[in-house]
Amino acid sequence: RAKQLGRDLVCEYSTDDMRRMEDRRMLGIRLRHAMQHDELHLVYQPEIRSSDRAVIGFEALLRWNSPEMGLVMPERFIPVAEALGLMPELGGWVLDRACAQSRAWMDAGLGDFFVAVNVSAQQIQRGNFAEQVADTLRRHGLPADRLELELTESALLENVDRALHSMQQLSTLGVHLSFDDFGTGYSSLSYLRQFHVDKLKIDKSFVFDIPRDASSIAIANTVVAIGHQLRMTVIAEGVETAEQAQLLTDMGCDALQGYLFSRPMKAQAVAEWLADYQIEA
Ligand code: C2E
Ligand code: MG
Ligand code: MG
Ligand code: MG
Repeated sequence: RAKQLGRDLVCEYSTDDMRRMEDRRMLGIRLRHAMQHDELHLVYQPEIRSSDRAVIGFEALLRWNSPEMGLVMPERFIPVAEALGLMPELGGWVLDRACAQSRAWMDAGLGDFFVAVNVSAQQIQRGNFAEQVADTLRRHGLPADRLELELTESALLENVDRALHSMQQLSTLGVHLSFDDFGTGYSSLSYLRQFHVDKLKIDKSFVFDIPRDASSIAIANTVVAIGHQLRMTVIAEGVETAEQAQLLTDMGCDALQGYLFSRPMKAQAVAEWLADYQIEA
């Protein structure tokens, strides 16, 4: 904040800025501690095929249970982890845990599900990311097509050449790749194919406004059309009402994800949820 003092421009931080920086510093220290002390865990949210409402996979989402702060959500701590360069390590841990869980579900005969893992810029931009993924799959004996990696446009665009290289290698491995929060970035269409992405996730901000907002309906329709033209599947996230689910299904959206079906849940809760869900269906 620039404050005019006489004729000099003095740059000073407001107390709010100071508090925010102090918060981040504190959060960073606690997060490093959390990674070593088992305070992190994954929760899983089902993805549902629109046509028959069958469960096709689960997205893994990170949670931090802090003794000092209680449950901390990823939107609060992932930006801090990124700023501190902790994401390669943290993301590696997520990948490992999600693959272990997916393998456990496979062994338990729970179903033919994939697990979807969110990947941050720092991970995809590393030269050895695909190798790390291959190694993780091998360690858990998990078939590559049971893993899906979710990337946002901003993660890919940070360094296009490096991202393209990683995506090419991942695609060769047989891992599924999806574009998360689709529609919120600049969405240069020419990139879509090059990145070997086979699935688009319509961002929940559009889904929330369906059916009230005509332009959100138009955007969802357009994403479905683009996706299908490019032989990709399209999923809507943030589906909370039966009406949204119906409209999106009618639009041709292939899959649905949201609180309507389930909130993200702990791994131990999945088997029971599935049994109940399948009875109701
Ligand atoms: P995302 O990948 O777009 O995940 C979807 C978010 O929407 C999740 O929030 C999920 O809980 C929430 N959501 C799903 N259905 C509904 C719904 O019907 N209504 C509402 N209001 N929300 C719904 P969450 O778990 O807080 O995660 C937020 C973001 O944090 C994620 O957005 C993702 O970008 C990031 N994130 C989470 N886990 C990881 C991770 O392991 N690694 C990385 N790099 N990012 C992660
Ligand atoms: Mg995601
Ligand atoms: Mg998303
Ligand atoms: Mg998001």
